Amino acid sequence: MKIFSNFESGAINVVKAESIDDIQLTIPNDNQSEFYQWFHFRLESLVGEQHSIKLLNLAKSAYPEGWDNYRVAASYDREEWFRIPAEFDGDTLTFKVTPEHNSIYFAYFAPYSYGRHQDLIHHAQLHPECTLETLGHTLDGNDMSLLTIGTPEPGKKIVWVIGRQHPGETMAEWFIEGLLTRLLDDEDSVGRTLLGNSVFYVVPNMNPDGAIHGHLRTNAIGVNLNREWAEPSMARSPEVFLVRQKMLQTGVDLFLDIHGDEAIPYNFVAGSEGTPSYSEERQALEDAFKSALMAITPEFQDEYGYDKDKPGEANLTVASNWVAEQFDCLSYTVEMPFKDHDFAPDEDYGWSPQRSHQFGRDTLAAVSAVMGLV
Ligand SMILES: [Zn+2]
Repeated sequence: MKIFSNFESGAINVVKAESIDDIQLTIPNDNQSEFYQWFHFRLESLVGEQHSIKLLNLAKSAYPEGWDNYRVAASYDREEWFRIPAEFDGDTLTFKVTPEHNSIYFAYFAPYSYGRHQDLIHHAQLHPECTLETLGHTLDGNDMSLLTIGTPEPGKKIVWVIGRQHPGETMAEWFIEGLLTRLLDDEDSVGRTLLGNSVFYVVPNMNPDGAIHGHLRTNAIGVNLNREWAEPSMARSPEVFLVRQKMLQTGVDLFLDIHGDEAIPYNFVAGSEGTPSYSEERQALEDAFKSALMAITPEFQDEYGYDKDKPGEANLTVASNWVAEQFDCLSYTVEMPFKDHDFAPDEDYGWSPQRSHQFGRDTLAAVSAVMGLV
């Protein structure tokens, strides 16, 4: 039996692996950080024999409640990621698998590779209205890539969409892939209409370093980018510094920051009700957006989510709050589950790349529905 994590976004520590009925593993911390939750490894072993795998020390992971009712993502071909039931006792997650092939991958959620990221942005630039631009570089020297879609003209609305500030939340890039595919589809009237009245700035991966390292939540030096928006710096958080600088040049009329939530088994949004500039107008916009999205897809709901910030108590280091305050606009953090959307559960796949992709497409229709109001 062999266990590997010597590949992009690989993350696991082997504590014990002498016997297939007692494989004990731990999850490494994000570099220079307390956070750990993302795992990704490959098991090469006997076909047809049951293996028992334990992930230890999860009581101190970033989101211990994320392991309740969580099912492990697994794949033989790195395309189809099915789910394996697991049991959590408050500190150890135990799951059993009888491999059908001698190599099997496991991950916290279906990975979104840096290669696929490059394919996504380079395929997008083939569209005549799409431009790919490198804003600068990360601490590891990776590209901060921005797609501009549509031609800026007076009267057009400015829409910004970013994903994967938290790099282990890979569902965010699957979502953006769906949103971009629809926006760039000439046969889709939602995309065509939006390109007639707005310009999109899209950063599919805000944290390529963390994504490549196999981090859950931070960049190469352990910085949580979604707490850097008030005062980013090139030394600590060039990812945010560069994108924020561009936003200040373009302005923003509508902002979506795409995430995954470890604990809550629903899709939901978090608004800017705690920002000093929050108003009845902004609340009306938020309500219109949520109503549109709920009418479009049963994958969205507004019953379960985060507690709302009290007036004036928003954390302005968070992207969606900083943008709302700076530009006085509709600004949402969009959260998808690592587990499943419990109003429409899927036993085989849980919340999945396919559903994230479709939710991105559907969310674009909700953006279109409120475009006349923003
Ligand atoms: Zn997040």
